[in-house]
Formats: sequence, structure tokens, C-alpha cells
Amino acid sequence: MQRDSRIGANFIINATMANTHQFQTEVRQLLDIVIHAFYSDREVFVRELVSNASDALEKLRLKQLTQTDIYEPERALRITITTDEEAGTLTIADSGIGMTQEEVVEFLGTIAHSGTKKFLEAMKESKGGTQDLIGQFGVGFYSVFMAADKVEVTTRSWQPDATPVKWVSDGQEGYELDEAAAETPRGTSILIHLKEDAKNFAKGDHTRYILSKYSNFVGFPIDFNGEHLNTVQAIWMKSKKDVKPEEYEGFYQFIAHTESKPLSYMHFSADAPIVLNSVLFVPEENPEAMGFGRCEPMVSLYCHKVLIDSKPEKLLPEWLRFLAGVVDSEDLPLNISREMLQDNSLLRKVAGIITKRFIKHLEGVAKNETETYEKFWRTFSRYIKEGVVTSWEHKDALGKLLRFESTFTEPGKLTSFEDYVSRMKENQKDIYVLYGASRSQLENSPYLDALKARGFEVGFFTEGGDQFVVESLMKFGEKEIKSIDRAGLELPPLEAQPDQPGLDDAEAEGLTTWVSDTFKDRFSKVSTSDRVTSAPAIALQGEGDISPEIKAYLRAMGQEIPETHPEIAFNPHNPIVMKLAELRTQDESLATLLADQLINTALLRAGMLDDPAKLADNSQALLEKLLNK
Ligand code: ADP
Ligand code: MG
Repeated sequence: MQRDSRIGANFIINATMANTHQFQTEVRQLLDIVIHAFYSDREVFVRELVSNASDALEKLRLKQLTQTDIYEPERALRITITTDEEAGTLTIADSGIGMTQEEVVEFLGTIAHSGTKKFLEAMKESKGGTQDLIGQFGVGFYSVFMAADKVEVTTRSWQPDATPVKWVSDGQEGYELDEAAAETPRGTSILIHLKEDAKNFAKGDHTRYILSKYSNFVGFPIDFNGEHLNTVQAIWMKSKKDVKPEEYEGFYQFIAHTESKPLSYMHFSADAPIVLNSVLFVPEENPEAMGFGRCEPMVSLYCHKVLIDSKPEKLLPEWLRFLAGVVDSEDLPLNISREMLQDNSLLRKVAGIITKRFIKHLEGVAKNETETYEKFWRTFSRYIKEGVVTSWEHKDALGKLLRFESTFTEPGKLTSFEDYVSRMKENQKDIYVLYGASRSQLENSPYLDALKARGFEVGFFTEGGDQFVVESLMKFGEKEIKSIDRAGLELPPLEAQPDQPGLDDAEAEGLTTWVSDTFKDRFSKVSTSDRVTSAPAIALQGEGDISPEIKAYLRAMGQEIPETHPEIAFNPHNPIVMKLAELRTQDESLATLLADQLINTALLRAGMLDDPAKLADNSQALLEKLLNK
């Protein structure tokens, strides 16, 4: 008997254990942050739960169109919200897709949502200094514990044979899981026991006010304390003239889970060749700039107001991943699967049309709202540049959106290729650019000499990867874009300046032939040139050579680097060069050291000196020789 009772006791303990679940460590960390959130951020939990209810209803609506066996097929799709001031509770219920027991364990016990995971990582990195981010980025379901000291979730899945489940937690260590009453209706009901200092959410007026901010963007009726609250509308299906700016803002805040305003938005409708309705928003901040990593797609795909996929991977091109919004096309098949989404030719057409329209929209912003465009450029330039490199079809249109500084702009002021072309001189054939680390570095570049002398503008490109971007653009309109550190730049001749001392043709010829012979195969060409006036010599990239930037990239990738043969151009009017021309016949070994010094310095300035130690060794040898003389 004794033995039996022991087994019985064990059994009881195990049974209780089976009902008590620990939160995953990450969830506990998140809850710790959430519970200590700023008081003012608290109301976002209402938005998060309404958004989940709406998602659950959207999912059920899609199931209704694609599945036949659904529990309580006649039950109306709606959200029911009630406050109970006396009990100090708030209940948010929906008749949506519901959850099975396994789903509850996964969704409300771990961090299943990748956005929340990223949020947590960013939080850890900033060591708690980003409390206010909770208001900026929805942390999903767990945000309920900003206001609750106990939460009861009762849910029944749409699957006819699923058992209804009840989940109860105080947001500390874990939760209790039990079977719920058999009569539990389809969907999810969340009963929130409010904290002492959050009881205002149990007041009808307060919560009604919070709901009023976005209830009209929810695609299902909301009943609030027995009263119908919202007008169900799909803002993107309306005519532009019927939507107020505040409505766009409110819609953005609801779908992007944010309290901030969009920087810009585009509302676009078309009937041919495809029926399309779309609203796209540019956020105020770069979603990838805050340590959140690569952002998830935030443009949802609808088919005539039915949500097909809230995060379609391949809807818009990658470089547009910073956008939030909605794309709705009536022409899509409703039962389209995720796999089909990936290579559906109709979707590709949709993407093409929308991308084109969005680029046009940005062009309009650049023209009519210059300040907004500047802000846009400073925040999102990397995406536009990515577009130039990756999207052949839209490359030329994207070229118009690029902004950069130039020899003609004041520091910090930006210009465009369009403006550049409008300023081009009559005898100027090409567009000139120069790549480097900063404007101040580029401003001192001897490459500018020849362009300055002719009054030609040079665009400065100073961000990593710029060279790839501009080189893949190649042209702007009919004009070729040329990097001025390249050999073979075709420039109109300069007017001769007769009084200037310098090497005559024979002396120049003698010097360059000697340098070529002395440094045998190092250079593809040695010349004297008016491309340099401020320094003794410049190194030019040989025409077929890969650029220093690409060379560095290959080196970093551990790849073999093709041999390059730069060109050296001497300034025939420079006193050191003139001296060198004399010296080579008088003291050849000193002349060789001097020439090497001039050449290495030029290579170094051009970023083409592979081994800087050479320059140091050579200058030491040169100094020794001069001192012994
Ligand atoms: P997200 O909504 O971004 O996925 P949440 O933390 O808000 O993240 O919710 C986590 C998951 O819990 C949801 O993806 C969903 O699967 C499930 N869930 C939350 N609320 C509901 C609900 N009312 N009905 C059905 N499932 C829900
Ligand atoms: Mg959510």
C-alpha cells in the first residue's frame, strides 16, 4: 500500500509539473525589460494585441477561402473588447484562427517572432539604454505585461478536432497550461488583470481613446463595451482624394507598429495591365541602422482586401526592404502558396510596376520637397545604391536619384548628375568623378589639376562601395561617367602658356624614355602631361587595370590579384622634374633614387603603392646619398 501511495504522490506532482511551464530564457529577459518599461510607453500593448487579433482574423479569412473544414464556420469575424472597471480588467477577444496547445507553447512561451528576437539583441547590446525603443518597435504579445500582473489566454484553434486551451501567467517565471471549457468558441480571448498603476485601461473612455487612433485601420468590426467602434475600410482601395494625411499616418503607425510618422508615402492605383492598389511608406529612420540587422519585409500582399502574406519574401526587390505598406492585386489567385509566390510571373510584373512608380515618386519628392529628399538620401542612400548595382532594369532611373558633393558644391551640400550635366562646359564631353575616403582628401588630389584648369566639375564619391555603384551605372543619359584617376582621359587641349619654364619636347622625351628603361616592366606608359600641375608626378590607373578599391576587395577575399600596370605622368613644369631631367645624365644612381621617390609618392597618393615600406627605404637611401654628396 505504502508503495502505491508513493506512486500516487509522484503522479500528482508530475501532473502539476506538466501544467507548469518555464518561459524560455529569452522570454524572461524580454519580460524583465517590458515590465520596467516607461509608463508612457504602456499603451502600445493595446495596439499589439489588437494587431494580433486582426492578424488572427486575416488568417482565418484566408483559411475560409482555401479550406473546407473549419470549426464554427458561421461565426462572424470580429474583435470584441470589454473593460471592467470594478474588476480592474480589460479583455480583448477575436474569432480568428486561434491556437492549438502546441502553438500556444511555441508562440506564447518562446520568442518565435524574429523581430522580437532582434529587438532583444539590440537591447542587450545597448545595455538597457534603449528603453524608449519599446515605443518605437512593437515587442508583440509580451508587451501586455507592461500593464498586467496576470494574463489569461483562452483559445480554440480553427481545426475542428483541436482541444481548447487556457494559458495563465504573471509574466515572471512561466505559465500554467490547462484544457479550457469545451464550449470555448473559436478564436482567442485575452483577459488582462491590470496592475495597480495601470487600472486606467479598465476605464472605458481611456481605452476607447487609445483604440480610436487605429481602430479604423483594422479590417474587421470592433465591438467595444457592446458598441460598434470602427468603420471597416481598406485605405489603399480608396481614392487618393478621399484619404486625409492623418489617416495615412495612422495607418502607417498601425501596420509598422510605431509611434513615429512616415517620412514620405505613395498611394498608387492602376487598372491596366494589372489591377493594383498600393500604399507604401518610407519610415523616418533606417530600420537597419539601430542594430536590428537586416529588416524583414514590411509590405504585405493582399488580394482584394484579403491578406495573403504579411511578409512576402520576394514581393519587392531586396533594395526596397526598408518600405512598409500594402500591395493589393485582384488578379492574384487566392490560394497561392508561399512557394508559388516566389516565382509567379504576375507577381514579378506587380513588383516591376510598383518599383517603377516608387522611383518616380522619389523623383517627385526630390523635385518638390527638397528637404525631405535630403533627409531621405542621408538615411536611405545605401538602399538606392544597392538598387543601382542589383537592378539592371531600373538602373538608369535610379541614377537620377543619386546625390553627391563636387568641386562645385560647398562642403555638406549635395548635387545630382542632372544638375551636373546642366553645368557642363561646351567643350566637355564626359562626366568626371573621383573616389576617396573624404571630401577633404579628394580636394587635395593632384588628379583635379587638369579638370580645374579647364573649369570642369568633378563629383566626389566618398562612401564605401561608391566605385562599384558608379561604375555599374557607367553612363548618365548619353554622357559617360569617367573616373579622373584613369589613364586615357580625353580632355580638350589647354591654351599654351608661353612664359612658363619647363622641359622642351626633346628633354621630355629623353626623361620619359630613361624612366621607362630604368623601371622596365613596372609601368604601361611614362609620359609628361598637363594632367598634373600641383605635384611633380601622378600615377594613373592603366586602362585595363582593376581599381585600387576592387584590388583591396579581392585581397580581403583571399583571391588572386591580377597584375596592374599604372601609367606615370610627369609635370614638365615642376622644378624637381626639370632637375631630374638634368641629373639623369650627370649622376644616374642619384637620379634613379629621386625618380623612384617621385613615382612611389605618386603611387601612394593614388592608393596604388602595394608596399609602403618601399617608399620609406627609398627616401632613406636618397637622403643618405644627398648628405654624402
Ligand atoms: P507577431 O504578431 O509579430 O508574430 P507576437 O508576439 O505579437 O508576434 O505574437 C506571437 C505569435 O502568437 C503570433 O505570431 C501568433 O502566431 C500568436 N498569436 C498572438 N496572438 C494571437 C491571437 N489573438 N490569435 C492567434 N494567434 C495569436
Ligand atoms: Mg503581433
